[in-house]
Amino acid sequence: LGLLIAQGAQPAFASSGSHDEHGNQGNHGGPQYSAGSSGAGDPYFPDAGNGGYDVKHYDIAFTYDPATRTMDATTKITAVATQGLNRFDLDFRGPEITSLTVNGHRSAFERSGQELVVTPRHDLGKGRRFTVVVKYKGTPPVVTDPDGSIEGWVPTDDGAFVPGEPQGSPAWFPGNDHPTDKATFTFHATVPEGVTAVGNGRLVSQKTKKGQTTFVWDSREPMATYLSTVTIGNFTVTKSKTPGGLPIYTAVDPRLVTQSAAAVAQIPDIVDYFSSIFGPYPFDTAGAIIDRAPDVGYALESQTKPIFSSAPGVGTMAHELAHQWFGDSVSLSRWSDIWLNEGFATYSQWMYTEHTGGATVDQTFNSTSNYGRAATSSFWQTVTTDPGPEDMFGNVPYNRGAMTLHALRGKIGDAAFFTLVKNWAAANRYGNTSTAEFISSAEKVSGMDLTNFFDVWLFQKGKPTTW
Ligand code: ZN
Repeated sequence: LGLLIAQGAQPAFASSGSHDEHGNQGNHGGPQYSAGSSGAGDPYFPDAGNGGYDVKHYDIAFTYDPATRTMDATTKITAVATQGLNRFDLDFRGPEITSLTVNGHRSAFERSGQELVVTPRHDLGKGRRFTVVVKYKGTPPVVTDPDGSIEGWVPTDDGAFVPGEPQGSPAWFPGNDHPTDKATFTFHATVPEGVTAVGNGRLVSQKTKKGQTTFVWDSREPMATYLSTVTIGNFTVTKSKTPGGLPIYTAVDPRLVTQSAAAVAQIPDIVDYFSSIFGPYPFDTAGAIIDRAPDVGYALESQTKPIFSSAPGVGTMAHELAHQWFGDSVSLSRWSDIWLNEGFATYSQWMYTEHTGGATVDQTFNSTSNYGRAATSSFWQTVTTDPGPEDMFGNVPYNRGAMTLHALRGKIGDAAFFTLVKNWAAANRYGNTSTAEFISSAEKVSGMDLTNFFDVWLFQKGKPTTW
C-alpha cells in the first residue's frame, strides 16, 4: 500500500476511467465524480467550509501535554457525499499529518493554506456515507483574524484556551469549517493528572490511569465547528442543576473564582429568564469556562459552555448565554449576517439588565454608546449587514444590531415582537437562516410592510431618523 502524497501536482479530474470501489465506471452520461469545492461560498471567508459532503459526526481523540505544547491526535469524521466525489477538501491548519484514510484506505492528500485536499482511493458515490480518519501530531497553531484578534489553539500558563470564531477550529481538528455544516461531536481529551479538559456537552466519563486523565465529552445536538472547544488548564469545577433540572458544569481558573462568582451565580436565573422569552433552552447542558488568557481578551459563546478569557461580569455572562439560542441553535448562513448573532445577544443583555433592576432597554438604546451617538459619528457609516470581516466583531453588529431590534419592537409592538422572537428560535432551532428570512418573518408576524424600516436600520449608512 503506497502512501501517495502528491506534492504540487493535482490529481486529474475523473473524466474517464474512474471507478468507484465496486468497480462501477463513473463517467456514463457525463462526469458523475468530480472535486468538491474548496469553500462554502462565504464572501468573507472564501476558503471556509467545503462542498460535496455533509459532516454528520466528529470523533476527536487527543493527548495534550501543556508542558511541551504537543498534541497527538486522531480525528474521525463521518460524512455523507452530496455529489459524486473523486476529491474533496477539509479545512485544517493543524500540525503534521502522519496518516489519512478514507473508508479505511490510505489516501493521497496535499495541503495548501487551510485546505487539506484529499483524493480518496475509491470514488464516493452521491449519497454514500464515508469516514475519514486523520492522525496528526505537533503544536496546534494560534490563528490571527482579519481584525487582529487571536483564536484557535491559544496556549495559557497552565493549558490552552480554545475559541474558534470565525475560523479557529481547523487549528486543532480537520473539518468542514462553516456554520452551514453542523454535526454532533465526541471529544476524548487526555491530559496530565490534575489538569482538566473541558469540552462541549455532557461529561460522559473521566478516568485516570498512569498519571493521565481522559475526559470524554459528548455534544449530542448539532454544533457548528466554530462553537467547539476543549479548553485545558487548572480549573475549579462545579456541577449543579437549574431548578428546572438542566445540568450546569462550570470550570473556573482558581485565580478567578472570587471575581467571577457573581456572574457564575446568575447562570440559572439567566437561563430561566431567557427561556421565558425565547422558548426552551436548546441544549441538554449549560455552563461556563472561565480561564486566564490575557492575549485573547474576549468571550465566546462556545456551545453549552461559553468561554471567557478573564472573569466576566453578569452582562457578559448574559450575552454569551443568549447566544445559545441566537448563534448556536439558530445560526447564520453567511458571516456577513453576524448582526443576527451579535445584535440579538446584545439586545438580550440589555433586557436582562432591565429585568434585574438596572437601566431600562429604552435608556440603553438612547445612551451615548447607542442612539445617543452624534449623527456625524463614524459609527453610523458602517452598514449593519455588511461590516466586513475586519469589523464583524466591532460596535456596529452588536450595538446597531441591538438598536435595530429595539426599534423594531417599538414599531410592531411588544406582542408581535415577542411572538416573532419565540417563533424565530423555534422555527430555526439547530438550523441556519438569514437576514432576508428574518425580515419576512417580521413582516408576517406583524402584518406590516417593513421595507423602509429595515432599509434604514440594516442596509443603509447614516443615523436613522424616521422609520
Ligand atoms: Zn456576542
